[in-house]
Amino acid sequence: MSDAAPHILLVDTPPALQRHLRLSLGTLELRLHWPAAEQVSECLESRPIAAVVLPLASVGGLPKSQAHALIRQSHAHGVPVLLLAEELPEAVEVMEAHPPGAVDCMASPPEPQLLRARMAGLVERFRARSAQEALRQSEERYRLSTLATSDAIYDWDMVTDTLRWSVHVRTLFGYPPEDVQGDFRWWSRNLHRKDRRRVLASLRDALEQGDVKWRQEYQFSRVDGSYADVVDQGYILRDASGQPLRMVGGMQDVTERKRAERNLRFLSEASAQLGSNLELRETLQRLAWLVVPELADWCSVDLVDEEGHLKRVALAHPEPRKRTRALEHWERLAEARERRSVLNRVVETGQPRWVHAFSRAHLEELSGGDEELRAALELLGCTSYMVLPLNARGRVLGVLGLLQAESGRHYDETDVELAQALANRAALAVDNAMLYQRAQRAISLRDDFLSIAAHELRTPTTSLKLSVQTLVRKLQGERPMPPREQLRSRLEGLNLSVARLEALENQLLDVTRLASGHLQLQREEVDLVEVVHGVLDAFAPQAEDAGCELVLVEHGPVVGQWDRSRLEQVVTHLLTNAIKYGAGKPVRVRVQGWPEWAQLSVSDQGIGIAPEHQSRIFERFERAASDRHYGGLGLGLYITRRIVEALCGEVHVTSRPGQGSTFTVLLPYTAVGARKPLAEGSHEEGGSTWEESAQPH
Ligand code: ADP
Repeated sequence: MSDAAPHILLVDTPPALQRHLRLSLGTLELRLHWPAAEQVSECLESRPIAAVVLPLASVGGLPKSQAHALIRQSHAHGVPVLLLAEELPEAVEVMEAHPPGAVDCMASPPEPQLLRARMAGLVERFRARSAQEALRQSEERYRLSTLATSDAIYDWDMVTDTLRWSVHVRTLFGYPPEDVQGDFRWWSRNLHRKDRRRVLASLRDALEQGDVKWRQEYQFSRVDGSYADVVDQGYILRDASGQPLRMVGGMQDVTERKRAERNLRFLSEASAQLGSNLELRETLQRLAWLVVPELADWCSVDLVDEEGHLKRVALAHPEPRKRTRALEHWERLAEARERRSVLNRVVETGQPRWVHAFSRAHLEELSGGDEELRAALELLGCTSYMVLPLNARGRVLGVLGLLQAESGRHYDETDVELAQALANRAALAVDNAMLYQRAQRAISLRDDFLSIAAHELRTPTTSLKLSVQTLVRKLQGERPMPPREQLRSRLEGLNLSVARLEALENQLLDVTRLASGHLQLQREEVDLVEVVHGVLDAFAPQAEDAGCELVLVEHGPVVGQWDRSRLEQVVTHLLTNAIKYGAGKPVRVRVQGWPEWAQLSVSDQGIGIAPEHQSRIFERFERAASDRHYGGLGLGLYITRRIVEALCGEVHVTSRPGQGSTFTVLLPYTAVGARKPLAEGSHEEGGSTWEESAQPH
């Protein structure tokens, strides 16, 4: 007998009836159990029972009360009961107490054929019930599994072309229930145009070629018009002849995974680009082109220049005309520095700025009240942007700007993370390139210095050599001694060359000392006016030779705790330069004592210095004048600055090319307790208004 044979309980059956029933039911595929009334409950619990046969007391079975209890128990398990009674009215009376269908009856002993027919009916009902239950459970499992996964599960009946979707088709792609149409066309309509032909062809092939499984990756439209990356995997069910009937499968949203893969690829490509070259502008421009159009419609890179202003070094957008116009607008924006741009704010805070959905308020903020600029920005059609700091070694070197316009895309947190990772890599590359540039510049400065130094040393040495040779020749042999006056003039010439050599030697020594950090100050009470007088006296012949009238403006002693010889050095360097670069024109020196600091200004009307060189000339070996016309090691101003700083002061220059320069030194009177001197640019060019506007003490 098969395991699938239905189980029948025949309760408390007297032996004679038992024999009769066994014989009558023997031909049916049944498993007969003969429990006592007390065992019925256990039997019902332990396995599915198809029917319970219950002989009543009249045929030696159970009394009515017990029969009622057993019927109720069986009914609770959904198992029908067949009563056997001698007289049917007895059984009918019992039946009346129970719901229809719960219990049936036969006269006992039952006619074998009738019993078999009745039993076969009960078994049939049992089988149908079991099948239904199995189906219900399976449906429930299916429903639960579709809920448990986040995939959009579908069941496509190809015969009726109906497609049933799990709820996730709505959660994944955002469609409201009424928009999800249950047919194949709805699905195929939502495939991305670039994928549709390929996906439909592969599905057709799978159906025609008798495949059981089908798998494709494609993009599927979301309700907001964006696309999700999906992996679709389906199982094809066929009829006996192999005709496809149904396909059950699921669409898995792999957008985030794909995006992470793409981002990783993008970052590694960007790193390769950034690491491939130390030429800064070229590298950053290439980076900008890598970002467009993958990550942005517009990409810009701005670096902070030496004066702390942002300078645009790269810009990418597919349309050249728009690019040119944007660059012009940027220049305008950069010029209006008082209008503190978003980019400047990112440099100041070191924090990224990100706008998911660009609004009118953002437009106003960006244009800073400039009508024309606002119109231009409006035309740009920005939908979203982000500005990221280029941070390296704790400094913000510049900003990376990404903007969406034509594509209508919007940035989210993941984009910001990716862009920041990109900005960090870019910052590292910028830092490396800057270090490299600096190293290159230092090398070229050193080379220039060596050749200039050799030249500078050669001039006095050559004239020294020539003078000595002439003298030796004149004093040689029997010749008469040259006249005393001639001899004196020769020796003075020699002295001058020696002094020049000495000055060069001192400069070199000073620089070496400064480089190793030794600058010993001998502070004492010094009158700056007296120092200036001394230096001016010493320089009188030189100034005369150069055609420079020396004018000193002073109002009496200006005394402070300073280092006399270092102050002399400062005045000497400034005066040397004024005479050298302002030959033929007057040189004015002014000393003033203000309540908290002393001021020394040296003004000439010479060649002047272009604005872009004005800060670097205070650095070591830095020169801004042509080597052919002006000698010099590029050390005087460096030494001056270092001495002034050691005295807690400041030195700066105001100058106009072709009109002259004014070098101003501000010194506190003592090493401590001095307020910081005036900030750069707080006095007028040339410093001339000071004298008139305030009274020195
Ligand atoms: P140098 O020996 O070259 O004069 P400095 O350090 O004294 O070196 O000056 C650095 C550079 O600054 C000079 O090469 C020159 O270009 C510029 N400079 C300094 N003083 C003046 C000045 N009074 N007028 C014009 N340029 C000047």
